[in-house]
Amino acid sequence: NLYNQLQDLKGNIRVYCRVRPFLGEQSKHLSSISNIEEGTGSISIITTPSRNRREGKKTFSFNRVFGPCATQEEVFSDTRSLIRSVLDGYNVCIFAYGQTGSGKTFTMSGPKDVKEESMGVNYRALRDLFHLSEQRKDTICYEISVQMLEIYNDQIRDLLVTDEIRNSSQNGINVPDANLAPVSSTSDVIYLMNLGQKNRAVGATAMNDRSSRSHSCVTVHVEGKDLTSGNILRGCMHLVDLAGSERVDKSEVTGDRLKEAQHINKSLSALGDVISSLSQKNAHVPYRNSKLTQLLQDSLGGQAKTLMFVHISPEHEALGETISTLKFAERVS
Ligand code: ADP
Ligand code: MG
Repeated sequence: NLYNQLQDLKGNIRVYCRVRPFLGEQSKHLSSISNIEEGTGSISIITTPSRNRREGKKTFSFNRVFGPCATQEEVFSDTRSLIRSVLDGYNVCIFAYGQTGSGKTFTMSGPKDVKEESMGVNYRALRDLFHLSEQRKDTICYEISVQMLEIYNDQIRDLLVTDEIRNSSQNGINVPDANLAPVSSTSDVIYLMNLGQKNRAVGATAMNDRSSRSHSCVTVHVEGKDLTSGNILRGCMHLVDLAGSERVDKSEVTGDRLKEAQHINKSLSALGDVISSLSQKNAHVPYRNSKLTQLLQDSLGGQAKTLMFVHISPEHEALGETISTLKFAERVS
């Protein structure tokens, strides 16, 4: 359809930048953001360390930029076309990238309250899938199901079980033994997301805030049966809240923390390598360098569509991480 053709003209990889607002107490702090142009999708960063010397600036461009006032609805609005693609049989990956505290979980899941207007991309995506499949129900019968996984230290864990830690299949491309839960309403989705969150927290008892040091992935499988031809189409969407991208100081951490940091580093660079070789249309795409890219292999590249939300913290203290996030984003777009 025309919508998808227009999208194809824009390319299969899109990168959006979202800037988090200052949080309460921090509001007097100096911002590292000098200018956001939502119209052209560019953002200028003040690269000069001190308050008085504002001349150092660097500008980065994206497919879109969302400033601190952007609502969850606005951030999601351009993602709608991808949701439609899933029902048309495309595979889609949506990522949240950024340092810890920059707003990844806010974008994907939303804040902890349960108001519908503050719900994030995961909920909105499923809500749209239900709406659209309902609209098509006279011609296509859809079944929608969900998996929730966590990747921690290059190990895949099923979040839709209560007491079991399972690793991926040997080829790593898919996780056939992970629970696949059929869903038919947004309340099913909220129930599963809460279960997944709880299971994530169970794994976190020994370490505080494990969630920022693992990748979490909600995978939505869609199967549609054409009621006249009997043909089956399949699409799938991965909604990925990535581990925090901040560099840890190797001189300060040892043991488990160092190992975690090395796994995060390796998997995020592997993801960057895959997406940048796809966007450069390289013949060889290095999927095999991490569990994350193996898991997502059939939804990255080919006809698949990728959307990366890169998240920026506005505080000047975060400048180093902000610049490295923006460089990552530049490399994949
Ligand atoms: P991350 O998942 O990247 O570590 P979070 O999503 O947990 O970051 O965000 C850190 C804090 O900032 C949370 O308290 C969150 O509610 C808040 N926050 C993040 N993005 C926004 C936003 N766009 N508007 C309001 N609050 C936000
Ligand atoms: Mg988070």
